[in-house]
Amino acid sequence: MSSKDIREKYIKFFTDRRHKEIAPAKLVPENDPSTLFTSSGMQPLVPYLLGQSHPAGKRLVDSQPSFRAEDIEEVGDNRHTTFFEMLGNWSLGDYFKKEQLPWIWEFLTKELELKPERLFVTVFGGDNNSQVVTPDGKTFELGLDADSVTEWSKLFEKEKIAPIVVDMTNPETSPLEISAGRIFQYGVSKNWWSRSGSPDKMPTGEIGGPDSEVFYDFGINLGLHEESPWKDQPCHPNCDCGRFLEIGNSVFIQYQKQADGNLKELDQKNVDFGGGLERLTAAAGDKPDICQTDLFKDIIKSIEGLIQAANVYGVKGPKDNFRIIADHIKGATFLIKDGVEPSNKLQGYILRRLLRRAAVEMHFLDGFKLKAMNKMSDLVEAVVETYQGTGYFEEVDINMIKKVIDEEMQRFEKTLEKGLKEIEKIDQIDGKKAFDLYQTFGFPYEVTEELFRQKGQEIDREQFRKEFEKHRELSRTASAGMFKGGLADHSETVTKYHTATHLLHQALRDVLGPQVFQKGSNITSERLRFDFSFDRKMTDEEIKQTEDILNKRIEEDLKVERKIVSPQEAKEIGAIGLFDEKYGNEVSIYGIGPGFALDPKAKDQRERAGYYSLEFCGGPHVEHIGIIGKIKITKEEAVSAGVRRIRAQIV
Ligand SMILES: [Zn+2]
Ligand SMILES: [Zn+2]
Repeated sequence: MSSKDIREKYIKFFTDRRHKEIAPAKLVPENDPSTLFTSSGMQPLVPYLLGQSHPAGKRLVDSQPSFRAEDIEEVGDNRHTTFFEMLGNWSLGDYFKKEQLPWIWEFLTKELELKPERLFVTVFGGDNNSQVVTPDGKTFELGLDADSVTEWSKLFEKEKIAPIVVDMTNPETSPLEISAGRIFQYGVSKNWWSRSGSPDKMPTGEIGGPDSEVFYDFGINLGLHEESPWKDQPCHPNCDCGRFLEIGNSVFIQYQKQADGNLKELDQKNVDFGGGLERLTAAAGDKPDICQTDLFKDIIKSIEGLIQAANVYGVKGPKDNFRIIADHIKGATFLIKDGVEPSNKLQGYILRRLLRRAAVEMHFLDGFKLKAMNKMSDLVEAVVETYQGTGYFEEVDINMIKKVIDEEMQRFEKTLEKGLKEIEKIDQIDGKKAFDLYQTFGFPYEVTEELFRQKGQEIDREQFRKEFEKHRELSRTASAGMFKGGLADHSETVTKYHTATHLLHQALRDVLGPQVFQKGSNITSERLRFDFSFDRKMTDEEIKQTEDILNKRIEEDLKVERKIVSPQEAKEIGAIGLFDEKYGNEVSIYGIGPGFALDPKAKDQRERAGYYSLEFCGGPHVEHIGIIGKIKITKEEAVSAGVRRIRAQIV
């Protein structure tokens, strides 16, 4: 079964069950500075999970391209990638566990024809540090997710599979019980979801709940169980040896943290399901390696072609190197498509790391002889072909993507030469130095090791690993902090800046003309950045006029109003912005200034309807714009031909 079949079957399965298909978000979130990338299908939907109504309704489905920079070091095994597609379905206060679990089961066993005996599930086993409070004030311990156990038990029994429940939170559980288990209970670290982690870390008002994962059992020992932390026990779903592959997770958002520290049942209970397309395809083909699926095969073949079959994936060559190159070139292609360029900051830095790491890996596979890395951009074609028919690359200039990669490779060649010279100079290399080389020049451990084997030196691998782990912990903490801190501390400022982009969009159209159209925006807690179509530099006078309009409107303290209307109606009253075809019958628009300039001579429908600004948008926004404060345009510059960029600050 091809990945394309699986993607289509999934969307159809849920649209047949009255879900609306929504368009995927870009890989780089436009209005959320708290995170670098869209890393799951849930992420763009957080405002709706928190209670805002979604214009497409209460049942949603999509396939969301996602990117996880924090997994970059894990790439190289049989299942981790930086870029992946996540199939997702949501219930926003509609159906719950009784519908969700049987549907997922039906999709996996009937649509994908996975054998039920190969499926294992996990559930939340409870947390004796957390209390749930009932509406009449009684409290009880946050216990086992018994509803999920009941649902799964029924489904397994129908297939004549014994639904044996095993408590993995109990250290006394015996190896015999583990090897007989089918439904595994784990604690807060494995089967609890909230944006902040376990219940005790959730701030007041935060929502969360138990989750339930499905694992596919490849039934074989890949030779790694003996190296896993669980080596003294039989293998079980959360063992990381590669035998069990997590193929889907249903999150049940049913609690909200209270000021007194207890959890309260939510009125609007949500379901959030995410399943990795790469992994589902591997399971459907019973291949314990995502690189053997059609989502990677042609890319791997192209790599073999570039290095002229000196190494062949999984036969003569080490698999890891091929997997890293294939993942990184794919991730890089998608990031460049979504507007990222190599740099030393934020998203650009991650892209640079992907490209340079892939280059060193190619150099290594090459035996340091050929210059395959200089032809790396050729691999873009295999990536694009892999996604033919998905729409992801239909309107994309492939040569532009290749050019970005070629330019970065030219820059990197110089650094690489310097790095190789550096290695020549070092007499004795230890694990710490090997790590420095890795950090500074992007030399993977194996590359350094290989170079010194040639010089007759051995490196302490354990020391390298320790340095590496230390660094990984640090970067994980940093990215977790970025996600949490960003949302919690800056949401108010970000909301002000976002609302200001609506005003700026309209003010620019007033000053420069209706050919001005938003091309993108990016917001941090310090400034807003707004890209728009316009073919020349703005004059100082025009910048001043724009700024004056912004501040005049803010002084008038216009009101912000949200409306749900039909796309037809939205167009008729002159709403601007990106219109998403997939939204169906209803769209969400935000108007600023109801009652503004109700002048019979008003020049367009928008003004006659009484709005200064009217745009398609998902929110969130301030309620009155007076709260934004004074705005200053700090910079106006070119981004590319026909596109200008403005930076502005609240002062
Ligand atoms: Zn194992
Ligand atoms: Zn908006």
